[in-house]
Amino acid sequence: MNDLYLSGVRPWGGPLSDVEIRDGRIAAVTAAGTAAPEGVPRLDGEGRLLVPSFSDVHVHLDSTRLGLPWRPNDSPGGVWANMLHDRAHWREAEASMTERSTHMLGLLIAHGVTRVRGYAQVDADCKLERLEAVVAARETHADRADVEIIAFPQAGLLREPGVPELMEAALRNGAGVMGGIDPCGLDRDPVRHLDIVFGLADRFGVAVDVHLHEPGELGLFSLELIIERTRALDLRGKVTISHAFTLAHTPLPRLDEVLAEMAELDISVATVAPPGRNTLPLRRLTEAGIRVGLGDDGQRDYWSPYGNADLLDRTWQLAFTNGFRNDDVVEHALAVGTWGGATVIDPSLPALRGVHDRPGVAVGDPAELVLLDGEAPAAAVQDRLPHRTVIHAGRVVAHDLTLV
Ligand SMILES: [Zn+2]
Repeated sequence: MNDLYLSGVRPWGGPLSDVEIRDGRIAAVTAAGTAAPEGVPRLDGEGRLLVPSFSDVHVHLDSTRLGLPWRPNDSPGGVWANMLHDRAHWREAEASMTERSTHMLGLLIAHGVTRVRGYAQVDADCKLERLEAVVAARETHADRADVEIIAFPQAGLLREPGVPELMEAALRNGAGVMGGIDPCGLDRDPVRHLDIVFGLADRFGVAVDVHLHEPGELGLFSLELIIERTRALDLRGKVTISHAFTLAHTPLPRLDEVLAEMAELDISVATVAPPGRNTLPLRRLTEAGIRVGLGDDGQRDYWSPYGNADLLDRTWQLAFTNGFRNDDVVEHALAVGTWGGATVIDPSLPALRGVHDRPGVAVGDPAELVLLDGEAPAAAVQDRLPHRTVIHAGRVVAHDLTLV
């Protein structure tokens, strides 16, 4: 049964309304006080805000110590050194990888996420061990969230033997997206790296997600190679650039030319809202027609002490790092953290049409929803209160930060 009647909610902070959900979709939005249909479970919205549920499109589901005793962070810094540090320690954790991944995915859902696109690391050390843990976590929470798994070559594809074969095995064993990482900076052979990434994606008919930390001109060079392959294989709507720091470093008018090419090929961007010089110009991306989604990244792991599995917190960070102050743009950050990510995962959903678009709560939209406490959406982003109700496929899956 995926029917539910929400009474007394404020879609995107608008007038008090009732929302009828049928078969996991929004079937009607009416003025509050409309008689609920017979036999449909009813939820009192208490006047809270109704927005689409959060979509986490960049989360390392196998890189977390949330729920475990505090471990002083001693990561050395830098992608390769941190990868080796994680490799040296992840098996020492007080709980298994399956337990940790399952716990973290549960926390994400409890805080309001029902759509996830997350990584499972695949390399010469762990082989498919971490993927299997993430697949098990997805199974445990299958009724609470839709989870897509990216096979992620954290240690590169070429630096250690046998990794492309492992990636192929990952795509046969639960991963549904082909990952790549810093084709120049890590593997130092961008053409070979990207030919493997796009070759496997093409063969398996899956989407691509490339971690691109490479700065400035170097990142732009990799991005051009990605654009070239997206065009050649006609992977419109199926390629995502994660981080994309180069877009924060590229000056105008070159930036607008690159964004136009990305928009034409429907290449999306996943950001974790980094501070400082790597902060992406969010508004410019959205207005160029680029799908942008938000992610939590690693969560208190062997790389970094940050992370609390709350994508509403990360939404605040997205607004803060962009210097957003007015309600319209703070709300835009919330639209990106919720609907924006959903459109990255599912390109059949319409992209945000600019900073004033507030989609995801109209008749016909999927009943992937969250009720937030707050006078207005921008206030909810500032206060990040715990009184939340999370709805997946028309059913309540979490309440007040606890799974139900
Ligand atoms: Zn990442």
